[in-house]
Amino acid sequence: MRKTIIAGNWKMNHTGADAKATITGLVSRVPKDVKSEVIIAPVFPYLPMAVELTKGTPIHVAAQNMHWEESGAFTGEVSPAMLVDIGVDHVIIGHSERRTYFNETDETVNKKVKAALAHKLTPIICCGETLEQREQGIMQSWIEGQIEKALAGLTKADMANVVIAYEPIWAIGTGKTASAAQAEEVCSIIRKKVAALYDQATADDTSVLYGGSVKGKNVAELTGSADIDGGLVGGASLKVDDFMAIIDNAIVK
Ligand code: PEP
Repeated sequence: MRKTIIAGNWKMNHTGADAKATITGLVSRVPKDVKSEVIIAPVFPYLPMAVELTKGTPIHVAAQNMHWEESGAFTGEVSPAMLVDIGVDHVIIGHSERRTYFNETDETVNKKVKAALAHKLTPIICCGETLEQREQGIMQSWIEGQIEKALAGLTKADMANVVIAYEPIWAIGTGKTASAAQAEEVCSIIRKKVAALYDQATADDTSVLYGGSVKGKNVAELTGSADIDGGLVGGASLKVDDFMAIIDNAIVK
């Protein structure tokens, strides 16, 4: 059975005191028996603090990126083993900002996904089209291509530990949310693609999230859709009240 997941991507925000206040605020407010899986992704320097503060709570901690190699001459990079060593259990892979500003490709995304799985980290794999691609009518083939390349070489067993996030680039940080119908259409395309690559049971068990200006007021409509299993949340994950509104209003099917 797939899970409903609410994941907060903090991006390059919050220094130590703000990070600590946000995490302690969430720890005091996320119910012990919360029905969704709640994940926060602070920046690298505060991951150990996040792991420490969330111990014994239902909140999981994700990194926003990682390298695929174990160690070596890769200045500025962090390896999967290092994330596991500090107690992180999820990692966001292939966010559109990484693809746009840091030259991530489908090939590096695939290497990172394989490395994450090899270390028992759950990858949250991001995909999404630009407005131009949508208007050109190539959204479906683009998304299917991204999914196929990200999952290349993964087994059915691997898929039990994979989360996919559909994040239309035109809806990230813009205040423009894809309508629930638009988001559902693409999440359903993703699920069908997973079914074609593996089988229907694997597709039915894969959590597919929507990301792009998710807020407390639109999360119920989004997560109420058949193929949307939660949200990857940017801006609204930075404030405890905003993130709690999303957690509280998400529909767990
Ligand atoms: C994101 O960057 O993953 C995201 C969805 O951002 P926002 O919620 O701010 O649009």
